[in-house]
Amino acid sequence: MLKPFEVHVQASSLERFRPGLTGPEWEALQASAEQARERMAGRTFWNVNSTARGGGVAELLPRMLAYARGAGVDTRWMVVQGTPAFFHVTKRLHHALHGSRGDGSPLGAAERACYEEVLRDNAEELLVLVRPGDVVLLHDPQTAGLAPTFAAAGAHVVWRCHIGSDTPDAEVERAWAFLAPDLTAARLAVFTRAAYVPPLLADRSVVIPPSIDIFAVKNQPMTPEVARAILGHTGLVELAPDAPEPVFTRMDGVPARVSRGADIVRLGSAPAPGSPLVVQVSRWDPLKDPAGVLRGFALLLRESPGLRAELVLAGPSVTSVADDPEAAATLEAVIAAWHEQPHFLRQRVHLACLPMVDPEENAAIVNALQRHASVVVQKSLREGFGLTITEAMWKARPVVASAVGGLQDQVRHEVDGLLVRDPGDPAEFAAAVRRLLDDAVLAARLGAQAHEHVRTHFTAARHLTDFMALLEELDARAEREA
Ligand code: UDP
Repeated sequence: MLKPFEVHVQASSLERFRPGLTGPEWEALQASAEQARERMAGRTFWNVNSTARGGGVAELLPRMLAYARGAGVDTRWMVVQGTPAFFHVTKRLHHALHGSRGDGSPLGAAERACYEEVLRDNAEELLVLVRPGDVVLLHDPQTAGLAPTFAAAGAHVVWRCHIGSDTPDAEVERAWAFLAPDLTAARLAVFTRAAYVPPLLADRSVVIPPSIDIFAVKNQPMTPEVARAILGHTGLVELAPDAPEPVFTRMDGVPARVSRGADIVRLGSAPAPGSPLVVQVSRWDPLKDPAGVLRGFALLLRESPGLRAELVLAGPSVTSVADDPEAAATLEAVIAAWHEQPHFLRQRVHLACLPMVDPEENAAIVNALQRHASVVVQKSLREGFGLTITEAMWKARPVVASAVGGLQDQVRHEVDGLLVRDPGDPAEFAAAVRRLLDDAVLAARLGAQAHEHVRTHFTAARHLTDFMALLEELDARAEREA
């Protein structure tokens, strides 16, 4: 019997946002919080996903929950559990929704039976908790199959899809055919971009892009010295003898220290504190194309052997992300691609698995890495919305991202970063990285504009306001349908 588990999240006051907002923006946020509180009085807002750590959804949920709770809405988070076979099916669906074949395995009756069985087990426990009138927000294909059960129990079901494809193809159709019977039970669906909305949900979809929490450990201010100290203690950069303590502040306000090291594949020593770093932080997923980043960087160094830059590909430890069964194989493939490189290149490319035991410590390491980077890249082949690029932009880092999916909304080419038109072209990628490494004035200008773009479009304050409007829409539809 598979039982979902709850992740408890402490409330955070919305007051935090006040200094960063204009008077009218602050008043609008407060007004919508007030409305949401009244609307949800006596009701619970459930979030259901399939991993508590690793990946964008697990990053987003605790912070959004904290503020929703801070606004006085009873918001809770349940994580369903699955079998390896279930996560194999859901990862296949994930690929298909992105228009990718993944491992090409079938999505037929046997897969459907496995998917339903796991969710049926999980639903039993959840049904005890969810009451009529509650709102249930199901995240991604892993939980879509719960929609009919909750709708039948009288809850208002919303399905949020964090992935998608701009150009639907046979794979995308396959995924929708698999999910369609369940999705008819969702009253609303939420997508990151309008292009991801399939015809079957066209009459009940809203577009809400994700956000980052600028107050989270991952994005909190950090001096360059402390960033270097944290990277020094984790083994990602050479530790300077006079380094300060590798400290950060936990969400509860208590100071803490980074003490765990990263698992690193490299030849020779860690980069010197002054070496410019090109960094990609991602789950070990073929669609993040870590091997492509390595090849693009290899091309860059072959063409410019005098360049001092080094590459860090960082991701979570491979066993830590419950719903991502591909991590170990993807990392192995990157290590194999690394082995194929000449000696001088292997000395300049570092493959790092970051410790995930303590999520706040992991966030502090990612924060340090993004701040220390000279260029942050996200060379994804497909991307729903790449939180990592927005995190780097908040830190005023110059970024290079593929012009795919949500990344095209996050980065405006030549305005607040550089977009690479063909994600499969290592030469275009290498040239973009080279430009930012060579031109400090351009890098600083793009970085400053990137920070501003995130402040105005991608913070949790905007995201919360969108969700409060969604609750209103949900109730209006429920009334019309009653
Ligand atoms: N992340 C992390 N530690 C890691 C690798 C990734 O905390 O070792 C975080 C990263 O900072 C970002 C999230 O995981 O917040 C990944 O979200 P994104 O939208 O970029 O990609 P997804 O994994 O959802 O496809």
